[in-house]
Amino acid sequence: MALEASAPVEKKPAEPREWSPASWRDRPAEQIVDYPDPDALARVERRLSGSESLVDIADIIHLRASLARVANGDAVMVQGGDCAESFAEFNADKVRVTYNLLLRMGALLRAASGGEVVHLARIAGQFAKPRSSSNETIGDVTLPSYRGDAVNGPAFTVAARTPDPKRLLDAHRQAKVTIELLQAYASASYADLPQVYREVGLSELPRPVAMFTSHEALLLNYEQALARYDDASEQWWATSGHMLWIGDRTRQLDGAHVEFARGVSNPVGLKCGPSLKTDDFLRLIDRLDPDNTAGRLVLIGRFGASNIAEHLPELMRATRREGRKAIWSVDPMHGNTRTVEGLKTRMVGDIVAEVRTFFEIAAAEGVHPGGVHLEMTGSDVTECIGGSVKLAREDLGRRYLTHCDPRLNEGQALDVAQAVAELLAQ
Ligand code: PEP
Ligand code: MN
Repeated sequence: MALEASAPVEKKPAEPREWSPASWRDRPAEQIVDYPDPDALARVERRLSGSESLVDIADIIHLRASLARVANGDAVMVQGGDCAESFAEFNADKVRVTYNLLLRMGALLRAASGGEVVHLARIAGQFAKPRSSSNETIGDVTLPSYRGDAVNGPAFTVAARTPDPKRLLDAHRQAKVTIELLQAYASASYADLPQVYREVGLSELPRPVAMFTSHEALLLNYEQALARYDDASEQWWATSGHMLWIGDRTRQLDGAHVEFARGVSNPVGLKCGPSLKTDDFLRLIDRLDPDNTAGRLVLIGRFGASNIAEHLPELMRATRREGRKAIWSVDPMHGNTRTVEGLKTRMVGDIVAEVRTFFEIAAAEGVHPGGVHLEMTGSDVTECIGGSVKLAREDLGRRYLTHCDPRLNEGQALDVAQAVAELLAQ
């Protein structure tokens, strides 16, 4: 009998098991919410499963096509909004000012690049936060950390901090209203695009701007309940938002969050922070975008102004070497957080510095700088320091409204957009 053992055996990485919207439940999960009443959670999940999709699958497909143009170097994306949406701060005007701000930032980028700009609001689902510690201690009292309004309340009381699944229904309702408002603003040209375009010197008549929604896919019970199978495309889609991303704390290759995201066909973002090793990074890309499809994966670097030069070049080189079509974008917020007089803040100077270095590295590595991801609000807050509005540390206390990370205000967000525009124009 001929021995065939010496024939080369092709070594393949282990295939992930079959996917279902619930397959994440067999995987280890970080940042898990400990609900005291699992039956109440199951009832909420059933309600959400029976609800309509929040976003249309056709629009998600539209976004994928737009992001494919970003991936090919023909467009850029601007993504921004609150760190965390809140129930208490919600009103139509707040949605309108954030919408208008994104349009104005997009117009700046459009005027500079001459190309298409894809607008993604961090909204209508951004209600949950990963936390570095699951508990918070004040004096001799220890309570669960605040994890965002979809989970529990910010007040330091047992009642507020106990996770309540009904909050998922409130978040869902607010997301639905927010999406309806965004649609109304878009179709009524509420933002007065011609005026916005004149301000930045664009003379052509603007076309309607599509405003897509995005959030971190952190609460997988919610995401699973809103996942829908589409007969036409024969694919599963997350219908909680157009684009979802995986946070820097929940990007474990075999973890629950990556498992959920790999099976839905939406554009997916992956936050890439300083602890991400190149090997794991490439495995994550394989897992999330096995077919290397332009418009599927957005890599969002968030290293910090003083760390980016150490970490980003190797990762960008790896994507280029492997011929990866994933988009590279930069989040210059999350690596630049510092505490000043007990308040979390960020310096506009650090934010712009990280964006600049991102563009320099992208140019050196021959990678298209695909966009920017910001925590910002059109409201007049004083949470970040610097910018043309010249906010100083003494100003922080005046209108420090965030329950979570500090946001750029309108003027500061436009400063950062202007810096991006200048880099695009080079
Ligand atoms: C965020 O985007 O609010 C966030 C928590 O980011 P990261 O996962 O990059 O820390
Ligand atoms: Mn944040």
